[in-house]
Order: sequence, then C-alpha cells, then structure tokens
Amino acid sequence: MNCPNLNSRRPRRKPHPLPQVVLTCLRHERLIALFLIFATIFLTSCTNTVETPAANATVKDDLSKIHAAMRKIEPFFKPMGKPEGYDWLGSHNEPGQTFDEYVAGDPTKPTKQRNKIYVLPLGTFTSQQKKVIDITAGYLEAFYGLPVKMMAAKAIKRPLSVKDSRRTKYSKVEQVRTGYLMEDVLKPILPGDAAALIAFTNEDLFPDETMNYVFGQASLEERVGVWSLYRLGDHASYDVFLRRTLKIAAHETGHMFSMRHCIKYECVMSGTNYLGETDRRPIDACPECSAKIWWLTGAEPAARYKKLAEFCRNNGLAHEADEFTRKAAAVR
Ligand SMILES: [Zn+2]
Ligand SMILES: [Zn+2]
Repeated sequence: MNCPNLNSRRPRRKPHPLPQVVLTCLRHERLIALFLIFATIFLTSCTNTVETPAANATVKDDLSKIHAAMRKIEPFFKPMGKPEGYDWLGSHNEPGQTFDEYVAGDPTKPTKQRNKIYVLPLGTFTSQQKKVIDITAGYLEAFYGLPVKMMAAKAIKRPLSVKDSRRTKYSKVEQVRTGYLMEDVLKPILPGDAAALIAFTNEDLFPDETMNYVFGQASLEERVGVWSLYRLGDHASYDVFLRRTLKIAAHETGHMFSMRHCIKYECVMSGTNYLGETDRRPIDACPECSAKIWWLTGAEPAARYKKLAEFCRNNGLAHEADEFTRKAAAVR
C-alpha cells in the first residue's frame, strides 16, 4: 500500500511541481523518513512488551507445520512480476521479508494485555462509507484473529488551528495534519488493551508542508494510525471502494505488527503507488505473509480461511469467498 516501509533508505527529495503520479512517489519517500523514526523508537521499546515465543521444541514443530501450509497455498498466488510504469517496485528498491526473516526479527505481537484492534470512525461519513468501515472491522477480525472493537464515532473539532489544517491547490477541501490527529485526538483515547487503534477518516490528510497529501500515517510506538477514505474513490463503485478499504486496513495493520512490504508475490502486503496497482492486488496475504499471521496470532490456517470465506460470502465478495474456501481445503 502507499505507505512507508522499514527497509527503504532512499534519500529525501525536495517537493517539486511534477506530474501527480511522480508526486505520489515523492510522498512515499518522505513518509519513509517518518516511518524510520517511528520504527527505530518502536523497535527499541518493544523488547519489553513482546511475548517470548514458546519453548524451542514447540516453535520448531509449529514452524514446520507453518512451512507445510505455506507450500499448499502457493498455487493461489501470482509471483511478483517486473514492475511496469509507475508501479511501487519501479521506484522503491525493497528487499522484502520472508516468513523466516520475520520470525528472526523479533516482531511486535499482540500480548495478553494488548490483544484488541480498535477501529474509530473519525469525522463525518457518507452512509456508504459508514457501511464499509463496519465491514472492514469484520474483515480485520477474521484476518488477524483478534477481537475488533468499533469505537463510537468521534467528530473533529473545528475550526482547526493554522498549523493543524491548510488549503492548497492540490486539494479541493481543507486538509488535516496527521500528527495532530495522532497526538491530540487518538493518543488520549488509546485503550490500555489496544494492540492497535486504527482511525478511518473522510478528511484529506497531510503530514507536513513538504507533501501534498498522504493516504495515512501510523506511529508504531504509540500504536495509533489514521487512514483516509477521501482519495479511495468511493464514487467509483461500491465493490471497488470496499475492496480498496479492506486492502488498506489489512495492509496497514500488518505494518503495525512489524510486517514489511512483500516483493515475492502480488500480495496485500505489497507496496502500491497508485490505486490501479492497489486494485490489482488480492485482499489476501501470500504464503510468506499469511505464515506471519498464523505465527503471530496462533491461528489455525484452515479454520482462519473458513472464517474469511464466511465473511466474504456474507459481504458480497463471491470470488474471494470461493478462493478462501479452496485455500481452507488445501491446507487441511
Ligand atoms: Zn505499506
Ligand atoms: Zn506477501
């Protein structure tokens, strides 16, 4: 998804009036710097909160089962091809992250104390957007196997200060600064048992004066993030808008559990530079990334796929429901 990642260390460029697609790339590079700061703080601090893995024998046993299941779902995924046009990997030299690398990297995991994902509708929404946020909460629950709590919708107090909002020629509406939302709105209401608090907003967002807009931003150290629906094209079609929102939610939550961008397959955890690339990606995670979720949450692969199939069937995602059902059968 169009967001920062832990690996890239590309130099920051100055903003410049370039075509929109190129500007999208530049926005990502700027975010990388922000993300690296968060990641550094987070990786330093997480050692006290990450649960110690089970005894070695059990881990070995689990890992071999996970590797066996990974092989069984390989046929469902398309290997990542050579980047075309403005594809993410054409402008981001990323190393990827295998399941084994992920486990070796001591990633952040939900703990006994912090085991819920909170979803907050922030601001005002159309009825279609409200419906999609509700469905997305259900998808996160099935995808990560963690309880998801929908928080009561919260308004953004206006007028906003000059430093927390702006109007530019790149946006038709007043934009809201992500740092304000995370620091002043989300952090004060972060529940103690939250593994992550994800706010969805219909506001157009910006992180600072060097960037035209961002789709979202997360602070891993603080366990809060905000993502905007504003540029996801809810006017396009309900199905397209729903799938984009599910992908962004699953992808960004994956980052909050230390999952890096995937370069091995067309995968929900692959970086994307534009909505067309997002649309090309599945709502599911590839074998390497699914293995991370199985290991992270202790989910049994077949049972998890059955839940995902049921979720998709109940929400009009017939193709995905069929795929998840076949994956459930494959990993049995
Ligand atoms: Zn990302
Ligand atoms: Zn993947």
